[in-house]
Amino acid sequence: MTELTYTEPKPKIYAGATGDWELVIGLEVHAQVASKAKLFSGASTTFGAEPNSNVALVDAGMPGMLPVINQFCVEQAIRTGLGLKAQINLTSAFDRKNYFYPDLPQGYQISQLYHPIVGEGEILVDMTPGIGRTVRVERIHLEQDAGKSIHDMDPTMSFVDLNRTGVALMEIVSKPDIRGPEEAAEYVRKLRQILRYLGTCDGNMQNGNMRADVNVSVCRPGQYEKYQATQDFSHLGTRCELKNMNSMRFIQQAIDFEAKRQIAILEDGGSIDQETRLYDPTKGETRSMRSKEEAHDYRYFPDPDLLPLVVSQDLVDEIAARQPELPDEKRTRFVTAFGMTEYDASVLTSEVESANYFEAVAEGRDGKMAANWVINELFGRLNKEGIALSESPVSAAQLGGIIDLICNGDISGKIAKDLFEIIWTEGGEPADIVEARGMKQVTDTGAIEAAVDDVINGNPAQVEKAKANPKLAGWFVGQVMKSTGGKANPQAVQAIVRTKLGLEED
Ligand code: ADP
Ligand code: MG
Repeated sequence: MTELTYTEPKPKIYAGATGDWELVIGLEVHAQVASKAKLFSGASTTFGAEPNSNVALVDAGMPGMLPVINQFCVEQAIRTGLGLKAQINLTSAFDRKNYFYPDLPQGYQISQLYHPIVGEGEILVDMTPGIGRTVRVERIHLEQDAGKSIHDMDPTMSFVDLNRTGVALMEIVSKPDIRGPEEAAEYVRKLRQILRYLGTCDGNMQNGNMRADVNVSVCRPGQYEKYQATQDFSHLGTRCELKNMNSMRFIQQAIDFEAKRQIAILEDGGSIDQETRLYDPTKGETRSMRSKEEAHDYRYFPDPDLLPLVVSQDLVDEIAARQPELPDEKRTRFVTAFGMTEYDASVLTSEVESANYFEAVAEGRDGKMAANWVINELFGRLNKEGIALSESPVSAAQLGGIIDLICNGDISGKIAKDLFEIIWTEGGEPADIVEARGMKQVTDTGAIEAAVDDVINGNPAQVEKAKANPKLAGWFVGQVMKSTGGKANPQAVQAIVRTKLGLEED
């Protein structure tokens, strides 16, 4: 079984006093393009810089300044579209979304309302390893980010930081195909993973590098199926938009709260106001921010400063030819090529760096054994100590060296763990350490026999007991392992003990 299996959506059911309710969710994810320069200016995008130090005249909305499109950002949007198996629109266009706010000095945001650069695509959301479902992506458009207003540094003043103004964002809009809080969090996780594999967004949610507006509505069983059959939104309930969510956990909590809030209102005979709400993680509730604005409120119109964005099919083909292997393909290949479980394959492919590390260890070695050492020993230890893989004190070459020593019969699995510990704390070449510290497994039968004889001669009473009860032979094996410092080959010790005690081989 290497193909992923995709299931029908399983809605989360909320039982109400008047019957069951289901959820419908659609996400608008804002992903910052991993670009050193902004979308329409050469100003830097470095996070955490001195306020207002990364601002070009065009970002500050100075009169007469003209935006110039950053080709690199355009390529990243195309790369992302291809990664989501989406239609790339060779001609797209920029529009002005007009509104006033101090952190938006132009007085409008340049976005793509009518003709986005990327059309319909899809994301396979993994519900359990190897089982998932398809969520359709409606579109991806390029747009500018706004700046940051700071109101809490001084009670009498507000501050504006324009460093973020004009930074390139990809807005990735899903269809309302998501059916529960967990599925929504999984969607964001999978999207983030794909973006990181593609290298088009760092996906650093704490820095606001990736944030989601989560649209939630509730409906009665059967309504969603009617919507799917007709694509007619009127079969769905009125939605609320939960703005600017930047944690998977909060996304789940906020959706769950919001579902219950809407159900309570509807069961009470009320109706849902279409509005934008904010989630407060400390109170665990959402509260109204503003009533939902419509496209016409923004007086959208084509930006007269920018020509339509035309890209050639050649450029798209060239980007397509350079696409990296994506998580689903990599996971399937790991299962087939290394005979590992879907679960292990998804752990190893969760980040491209872990997949690369694993492949370096597995190269020319037993894949299952490599997976086991990477996941259990290395990842286990890194997690425990809160260290990133990039900072790992044990390199892939060193871990591979440990595995080679086990496979050659030089060390036992138990000694290998001691060796791992030494390399973790002190570093060094595995084979050299084993040599220098005399950690080599004793396979020399003469030496093992001598050690077995010592234990047998020293414990006549135990010998009598063991002859009557062969299960007690294990005690002798333990004593020999102890007296040899764990270096004797356990299979050899076992065989010699049984022979010397006159027990049958089993
Ligand atoms: P708007 O133009 O108001 O932004 P869109 O049609 O672009 O609305 O949809 C915005 C997001 O809301 C999309 O991700 C979409 O999937 C989602 N959405 C639309 N209708 C619903 C609904 N009834 N329930 C939940 N989500 C919805
Ligand atoms: Mg929209």
